Amino acid sequence: MTCTDFLKELTDYLDATIDSSTQAELEDHLAWCHNCYVICNTTKKTIEIYRDSQLYELPDDLRTRLRTAIVAKCQQKKA
Ligand SMILES: [Zn+2]
Repeated sequence: MTCTDFLKELTDYLDATIDSSTQAELEDHLAWCHNCYVICNTTKKTIEIYRDSQLYELPDDLRTRLRTAIVAKCQQKKA
């Protein structure tokens, strides 16, 4: 699983709407990819904040910004 794949599944993972084999793959990715681990935690905290204010869905612009940030980081690594 690549970081891009991870990000595609991340919101479903946090919503717990994915199947268990995909979940296992995501957790495996989290175990070695620090960037995605940070993004996952940040997104989780953000969702909790929004849940508290009874706004469940992440705003699209935030989702896009998180995705852009992680993709940029991954590309830096490769360079
Ligand atoms: Zn990753």
